[in-house]
Amino acid sequence: MNLEKKMVVLEQIYEIYDNFTKGLDVACNKYCANCCTRNVTMTTLEGYKIADFLELRGKTDLYTKIQKALYKKRFLPEITINMLAERCLQGEDIPAEESDARWGACPLLINKECPIYMVRPFGCRCFVSESNCMENGYAEVDPFVLTVNSVFLQYIEHVDKDGCFGNLTDVLLFMQTEDSRKLFEKEILKCEDTWMISNRPIKAFLIAPEHKARMEPILKALQNSFSSIFMQDSGVNS
Ligand code: SF4
Ligand code: SF4
Repeated sequence: MNLEKKMVVLEQIYEIYDNFTKGLDVACNKYCANCCTRNVTMTTLEGYKIADFLELRGKTDLYTKIQKALYKKRFLPEITINMLAERCLQGEDIPAEESDARWGACPLLINKECPIYMVRPFGCRCFVSESNCMENGYAEVDPFVLTVNSVFLQYIEHVDKDGCFGNLTDVLLFMQTEDSRKLFEKEILKCEDTWMISNRPIKAFLIAPEHKARMEPILKALQNSFSSIFMQDSGVNS
């Protein structure tokens, strides 16, 4: 699947999610940025899109800010969401991963505003809370929304199954150079040579039995948006 097509699918996934969140009653608003931490993760496909945006908008100076986060503590994922689903399917143990919001703010955040808001990764788009996190100290999220978020993460990883997954800092610094972007474009990127981990296709969905019926129209919209990819796959369970 060529990169152009993957980008179209990614845009469609973001649009489907935006339509879903329009129907939610959330406390999120502009300048509310407690969820913008140094622990945000993303796929290389999303990183490529952001790197493109930085070049086109003349915002490559932001790499200097990101570079500084390279030496600071941040969440480094050991498994992707599709690996997690596979392990659940096989009844295997899930590694405990350490992530703490107190490690600091996202390196891109400027005066509580996101300079890449329109191309922010799904890991940021899915931050939603029914009550103000600043007041409560935690996000309040409906369990069904958590299921929806997991499925969208799974789809995005699936679209980028030849790419990698990692912390925002590591993915964006990787995408900074043209040579790296070329490796990604040619689908010959070796995640093990970087701070990132390999993406996987969907083998099973992380959908709780009580959410299956409500998930149907969302799954249908996602599947319709890139049915050509799914025609190549088999054995997807839920
Ligand atoms: S998830 Fe919490 S901190 Fe983030 S925008 Fe929403 S209310 Fe604010
Ligand atoms: S990329 Fe933007 S929305 Fe995401 S955590 Fe950073 S500042 Fe917040």
